Amino acid sequence: MRPPPAFDPAELGRIPAELLARYDVAGPRYTSYPTAPIWTDSFGADDYERALSKSAADGRPLSLYVHIPFCESLCVYCGCSVVITKQRERATAYVEHVEREIVRIAELAGAAGREAVQVAWGGGTPTYLPPDLIERLLDSIRTHFPVADGAEVGIEVDPRVTTREHVEAIGRAGFNRISMGIQDFDPAVQEEIHRVQPYELTRDLIAWCREAGLASVNVDLVYGLPLQTLAGFDDTITQVLTLEPDRVSAFSYAHVPWLKPAQSKFRPATIPVGPEKFAIFVRLVERLTDAGYDFIGYDHFARPGNELSEAQQTGALWRNFQGFTTKSGTDLIGLGVTSIGSFDDAFVQCDKDLGAWSATVRDGGLPAKRGMWLSDDDRIRRDVIQDVMCRYRFDPAAIAARTGIDPLTYFADALDGIAPLEADGMLVREPGGGFALTSRGRVFVRNVCMLFDAHLDPDAERPVFSRTV
Ligand code: SF4
Repeated sequence: MRPPPAFDPAELGRIPAELLARYDVAGPRYTSYPTAPIWTDSFGADDYERALSKSAADGRPLSLYVHIPFCESLCVYCGCSVVITKQRERATAYVEHVEREIVRIAELAGAAGREAVQVAWGGGTPTYLPPDLIERLLDSIRTHFPVADGAEVGIEVDPRVTTREHVEAIGRAGFNRISMGIQDFDPAVQEEIHRVQPYELTRDLIAWCREAGLASVNVDLVYGLPLQTLAGFDDTITQVLTLEPDRVSAFSYAHVPWLKPAQSKFRPATIPVGPEKFAIFVRLVERLTDAGYDFIGYDHFARPGNELSEAQQTGALWRNFQGFTTKSGTDLIGLGVTSIGSFDDAFVQCDKDLGAWSATVRDGGLPAKRGMWLSDDDRIRRDVIQDVMCRYRFDPAAIAARTGIDPLTYFADALDGIAPLEADGMLVREPGGGFALTSRGRVFVRNVCMLFDAHLDPDAERPVFSRTV
């Protein structure tokens, strides 16, 4: 595997405003291809059962995702599927339902003869569950899905509701990855987004994680939030560096009040956009790479030696609904309300309505609500988009070897479209008819991938997608 193209953070600061404006369009984040808006409601429980049975026959290793939807209060910028409640007793009933779902799906997926190489809990807030319930649910998973030695077992936590007892239970249960939101330490931003989380709270939580022996600590930041400024975010970066996280994820705030009405509270004039927002992101890239972090994909950072960094160097990086990961070639099973599953030839999303999801699971059914079967063309394009997102290249010889097609003929139309990207310095052509992304192309990789997306209508408005800047 060839090493990835070189990345020079200084190149980002040289992008002209005019070019930035042209590339600042609505576009998918490509955590899947085809992207979720393409999936349909006609994919139901029978399809899900068939996908699980095909998965059982294939026997590929498994990734598991468990969704815990509850949060105590709503962070106004939030784009996740959440249930806001202070009724803690709802957690017990929910875990009982997930345990029912585990039993049913493990049986259909032939889990006893397979290994789970990745387990991820997200939300919502997994630490909305009390410590004993967290241990119990992970035990239930292990009972029905054999978890491989050395598997990545990760959990997202909200520092505002995570106690030392939680962290000790997380360590005892066998989690070895922990991820927590910071977003921005600026008190004015925190007030505005309704997420007040002092630095000291996060610092103490990370210290407990280290004491509990958690191998990897990730923090999430969000750029483009209302009231965010370059100077304020610079201070946030300084504070983050003192915490020495193993990984940092930087998410672009997606202002989509037509999908997330709570965001209507933000005054548009306070939201940094375009060059102002991009400058905040560039500062983050410059300061983290200066501090020795590797820039992974287009929005993650990891210390050298971290498995994400190694995966980037060896070509093993992969992209799924959790972002960039090292576990390629797995079938992903989603557990819990609104969770998503991904198979070789199918995607499935479970019911987003907690009541409907619970009723289906209680009755022994499969809570599939949406999804799609992938055509051969979808699978080929998914392969290419994965390659561009994770290995920063369109490599015809490698694509031909994996898929059996002639990529230069198959993608002739898409390749016709790369001349403007080349002229804008986003990519350079390589011998054999392929191309490699430049440093600025790495940041605008979503725009490059859109060339290979057969489901995008180039003339349509795309209000369901966030902007690429
Ligand atoms: S804690 Fe996380 S999931 Fe819950 S509302 Fe806030 S951002 Fe959203």
